[in-house]
Amino acid sequence: MSTHISPAITLRIKEFGESDLLVSFFTADKGRLKGVAKGARRSRRRFSNCLDLFCLTNLEYDLKRKGDLYFLHSCKLVHAFPGLRSDFSSLSLASYMTELTEILFPLAVVDGKMFGLLKESFFAISEGKRGDILRIFFEARAMALGGYGIDLDKCCRCGRPYTGQGDAVFEPRKGRIACLKCGQESRLTPRLGPESVRGLRMMQSSQLERAEVLGLTDEMICEIRPVNRLHIEYRIGQRLKSAKYLE
Ligand SMILES: [Zn+2]
Repeated sequence: MSTHISPAITLRIKEFGESDLLVSFFTADKGRLKGVAKGARRSRRRFSNCLDLFCLTNLEYDLKRKGDLYFLHSCKLVHAFPGLRSDFSSLSLASYMTELTEILFPLAVVDGKMFGLLKESFFAISEGKRGDILRIFFEARAMALGGYGIDLDKCCRCGRPYTGQGDAVFEPRKGRIACLKCGQESRLTPRLGPESVRGLRMMQSSQLERAEVLGLTDEMICEIRPVNRLHIEYRIGQRLKSAKYLE
């Protein structure tokens, strides 16, 4: 029997049958996967303290699967991110990141950078870093990794390259920016100043460690937040369920 070990983050846990658990993971090398932990509710020995939400583990499982389901052998805790469960807003932010990851990455779609983003984000939340910055950074980067980066290079109507000067507006329908000759600021087409365009561009392409050196001001955060919200709603076609706990 061939077994495999993956670094994994627990996304979701559900009771399954009489004594089993159905667990959803995001792994570094196999993408998102679902597995059954046999007898995990009777005996927690093989999975001691590991089958909790949002833990980072080394997950051992059988590579042969039944349908979508892997058979889980054991799990070793690497990090429990205790700070992430310390208050409601931290837990809500982690749930929101999990939900966006699940939507953007179907089962078995592998993306090591996305795994890194989720892991570093959980470390940052657990260490008490600013949730509003972590949220917009995660949104911008996850959308870009999922193939939905916002095109910030030129006006989506007249094609004029954006040179980094002057304001632009975001057009959610197109997922791109427009110049002020072609577009008008409104609630549905929010304005982005040059600093915010620069910040958004860096977030879409940066590792999370760079979040702190981006020098995001409150004004930039206020401009980028509605852009990300509209962009996600248009591209995904829904509001994330967990978003309501973040307001
Ligand atoms: Zn234009």
